[in-house]
Order: sequence, then structure tokens, then C-alpha cells
Amino acid sequence: MSAPQISIVAPLYNERETFPLLVARLNALMDTSPLSIEVVLIDDGSRDNTAQLMQQVALTDARYHCIFLSRNYGHQIALTAGMATARGTEALFVIDGDLQDPPELLPQFYEKYKQGYDVVYAVRKKRKEGFLKKTAYFLFYRFMKSISYVDIPLDSGDFSLISRRVADVLNKMPEESRFIRGMRTWIGFKQVGVEYERDARAAGEAKYTFKMLRKLAYNGIFNFSEFPIKFVTQLGVASIGIAVIYFIQTLIKKYVFNDVPEGFTAMIFLLILFSGVQLIALGLIGEYVLRIFFQTKGRPLYVVREVICEQERQLDRNFLIPDEQKNAV
Ligand code: UDP
Ligand code: MG
Repeated sequence: MSAPQISIVAPLYNERETFPLLVARLNALMDTSPLSIEVVLIDDGSRDNTAQLMQQVALTDARYHCIFLSRNYGHQIALTAGMATARGTEALFVIDGDLQDPPELLPQFYEKYKQGYDVVYAVRKKRKEGFLKKTAYFLFYRFMKSISYVDIPLDSGDFSLISRRVADVLNKMPEESRFIRGMRTWIGFKQVGVEYERDARAAGEAKYTFKMLRKLAYNGIFNFSEFPIKFVTQLGVASIGIAVIYFIQTLIKKYVFNDVPEGFTAMIFLLILFSGVQLIALGLIGEYVLRIFFQTKGRPLYVVREVICEQERQLDRNFLIPDEQKNAV
């Protein structure tokens, strides 16, 4: 098999429960699809036996290409490793490994690609998730849209089909703190959304912790918006304005109405308030400085422990076997 047309890319972190279901559904898709497809699975340093399960599949089925990272790097970096490895000549189909993004939608997405779209992203019509998570996502995407300097589509995550050239650009982007849905939007070309209903997780628990989700949200905000820093400036201008007005008012009170200025409590309150405001301002600037700090280190984004790709091994073997023997095999 030469290079496949499509790579399905799915990161996995402790997905022991969903793994058999994922493989079954991917196999069913590949067996019936007229497209040539490879599956790129990334083990993001799982602590359960996900890696062993992946190994078994990769060694027995040449359509599976498995990458094992040296530790847990997080979903966005695992995805980055997968995209860098995928060989699909036409497009990459990026899905979650927990089957919340139905792989069976590939033909529908591929059709859009054939119509000339470089990015076909999925838009969630409905989410089968808890109220709190749904509300947080809903608010985040709307907030992001209002402050971002790229037009990140509402209610769409990383689930998408991206053309080979978009994947090539993404692979060349050296950003350390990655918000892939934003980077994908930034690249441009023709992009289109396809609506779908996001399923509940096939099995197991969500692997994204609250802390990880907050990190992702921060990466979105600080990598794709100037709003926080502009906001700090505006806050500074506004408080100077208020101070000047207050000062003038006090002078008028003293010299026109002979009122002695008072308000010790108000002073303490304002002192504490603006100390807080200044600390927040410092923190906001710190977020940008941190990003510069990590970026300038120039560390690789991830370290690969092992790659198993039976297909490549077979190609290597074919390459090594002299022609007459090859016919006998
Ligand atoms: N994931 C990962 N590394 C992590 C956390 C999650 O590769 O550190 C994978 C996980 O196995 C799943 C996908 O990323 O395939 C989405 O994670 P999850 O389902 O926990 O996120 P949610 O759907 O709740 O946003
Ligand atoms: Mg999930």
C-alpha cells in the first residue's frame, strides 16, 4: 500500500475502556470506505494498558500507525505529534479517541473537501454533557469570539478534516502553547462548518481535568487575543480619569463650600481595590511573559518513546528482499 489518501488522527490517554470500541468502529469504516485510510493513534503517556492495546493492534494491522510519547503531554501536543506523523496525501481527519466525534462522518467531511474546502470543521449542535461543562463551553466560545483577532468559529473544537497543505502549515508552526482550533482558523484558505451532534463518551471518564481545560482556555485567550493587555491599559486610563475627577471635586468642596475632605474608610477600600487591580494587571502581563519564556527555550514540543508502523516495516522488508525471493513470498 502506498501512502494513504486519508489519515485518521486520534490521541489517547488512559482510554482502555473505549479502545476496543474505537478500533471496531474504525475497522468497520475502513473496510467499507472506497478511500485508502491509515489510522494514527497517539499514546499520550497512558498509565493504564492503553499502550499495550495499541501495540497489539499496530503489530497485527498494517493500517494502524502508533506513536508512543515519553510521558503525558496533554491533548493538544499529542495531536501535534499525530499530525506530524500522519502521511495522508489528501487530508487528515482529526477525532477524539473516546468516540465523542463519530468517525463515520468521514465521507460527509470528505465530500466538502472534494468541493474545495481546506478545513472542514465540526460544529456541535448538541452536547451530551453536564450542565456546568456545557455552560462553561458556551460562554467561553462566545467570549473568545468577541475578543479574538481571528474569527474562531463558535462551538467547534479540534474535530475536523484538514487538507494536506493545512497540515503542512500546522506542522511548521513552532508554537509551544498550542490552541489548535485557533491555529487552524489563523491559517485561512476556504473553511466550512458541518453540524453534528456530539455523542457522550463511549466509556470511561473524561481525561481533561478542570486544570487542563483552564490551561486550554488560557492558551486560546492569550495566544489569540490582545484584549487582556489592552484591557489593562484601558483600566489604567479609566482609574486616572476617576482620580482626576475626584481630585477636582475635592478641591471644589474645600474652596467653594468649605467642606473638609473626609473618608478614611473609602481610602483604605480604594487602596486595597487598586492593589488588587494592579496584581491582576501584573498577572495578565505575566501570562504573555510566560509564553515568551517557554517559547524562547526552544525545547521540542514532545519526545517520542516508540513508533510502531507495521506498514513501514513491510515496506522495509520488501525493500530488503531481493526480487526473486519477493515473488516466492
Ligand atoms: N487526551 C490526551 N491527553 C490528555 C488528555 C486527554 O490525549 O492529557 C485525549 C483523550 O484520550 C481523548 C481526547 O484527548 O481521546 C479528549 O479528551 P477528553 O474526552 O477527556 O476531553 P473532553 O471530551 O471531556 O473535552
Ligand atoms: Mg471526550
